[in-house]
Amino acid sequence: RSTVKTLIISNRLPIKIERKKSKLKFTASEGGLATGLGSFYKENGSYWLGWPGIIPKNKEEEAYIREELKKLNLIPVFLTEKQIRDYYEGFSNAVLWPLCHYRPSYVELKESYWNAYQEVNQLFAEATAEIVDPSMRIWVHDYQLMLLPMMLREMNESASIGYFHHIPFPPVELFQMLPWREELLRGLLGADLVGFHTFENVDNFLDSCSGIFQNEIDRDNFRLSGRRISVDVFPMGIDYEKYSQQALSPETITYSQRLKNLFKDQKLILSVDRLDYSKGIIQRLNAFELLLNMHPELIGKVVLFMLIVPSRDQVNQYKKLRNEIDRMVGNINSVYGKPGWQPVAYFYHAVPFEILSAHYLAADICLITSLYDGMNLVSKEYIASKQDAPAVLVISEFAGASKELSDALQINPYAVRRTSETLYEAIEMPLEEQAERLSASQEIISKFTVHHWVNLFMERLSEVKEQQQQEL
Ligand code: UDP
Repeated sequence: RSTVKTLIISNRLPIKIERKKSKLKFTASEGGLATGLGSFYKENGSYWLGWPGIIPKNKEEEAYIREELKKLNLIPVFLTEKQIRDYYEGFSNAVLWPLCHYRPSYVELKESYWNAYQEVNQLFAEATAEIVDPSMRIWVHDYQLMLLPMMLREMNESASIGYFHHIPFPPVELFQMLPWREELLRGLLGADLVGFHTFENVDNFLDSCSGIFQNEIDRDNFRLSGRRISVDVFPMGIDYEKYSQQALSPETITYSQRLKNLFKDQKLILSVDRLDYSKGIIQRLNAFELLLNMHPELIGKVVLFMLIVPSRDQVNQYKKLRNEIDRMVGNINSVYGKPGWQPVAYFYHAVPFEILSAHYLAADICLITSLYDGMNLVSKEYIASKQDAPAVLVISEFAGASKELSDALQINPYAVRRTSETLYEAIEMPLEEQAERLSASQEIISKFTVHHWVNLFMERLSEVKEQQQQEL
């Protein structure tokens, strides 16, 4: 294990701070990134820097939070309400998110958003300057901080800087729409290593770079002003052990059995996602409705269990999406339901990890219909939670994970009829074939875990630094 100190930087710290009466409660978050990076930012001298997700009431409370977080090797960057609105909800979630998820019509090009984005990236750079030492390598995460790598490069020309883009990178035709395209690309090119989930994302990024920095960039031998930069593919994995072990725990098995009993003699099709227009929820409902329409013999024999985690539902497009889902679910249930049975079981809330695991374990089929998705971890978590068939993964070819999961049934979620036929194929698939496909997928997911991903990225970053040294 490497002893090099690392500074992880992401928009959010891997911690939740809640106000309980007059006290603050700190809970570690369980996200994929936190698990993957958790083991090494806690090591001697390594840190994680980001927004703690809370606005302190006063200077005293701010100092207290800073002190408490320091004990966990976490460094907070405090943001004001306005900064959160314009940098986070504005530029990050109403410009970059829709653009990277192929929704140009949702992009709100406001100068005030861009100004806040620059300001907050600068704030992160200043906070970094306060704690970084030249021996530390820096790993910046995701689209909220695209300007940061270059800001850090300008502070220290020889620093080791990696950047990973967790969401898709759009084709050049979309990216060039941004008035600030050059600044954003230049921001990323401050890194020594820029990572994406898929080859398609790498190609899109390089296309945009070649278009904008024509003279400065040689695509096969990538450098900016003489400095070599590596751009590569690192498909993110999950903590396989955590999911496979949880599925063996008595608590999860009992809950899973209860779920199965609730839907006795029915095939349980599970979908789990955040409320987001990139997840193809409307297309999923259309395909499921068509399935019932084409195969009336399935009525009473199959249920679509949709677990949707609340997200951004104060934002107009998300509010509209939620209303549309409510309407469609109501419609399908009223047309195809019968006393004591409804075809769609829909829940709009988050569930604890143990319960999520029980849902994966109970599901005969897991259905992923993303219209665009950087990776999609749910698909991998489902595979890891299963010991045996029945288990069929139906996954959109537009989710990054589909590239690794070639033994899953793949769909184009826009092709509604074909999707419903594939669902039928999943329902009818012999158990033996299910088991074969499952174990082929498990072989891949258990090997390329999130820990493997972290190590690979770090190794690659060291290699690039060595190559740069040799070229000096
Ligand atoms: N998840 C969660 N609470 C829930 C349901 C799901 O925290 O109630 C997690 C799930 O385990 C997965 C993540 O949310 O790790 C969703 O990640 P994914 O890559 O599928 O989609 P994203 O939300 O990042 O677009």
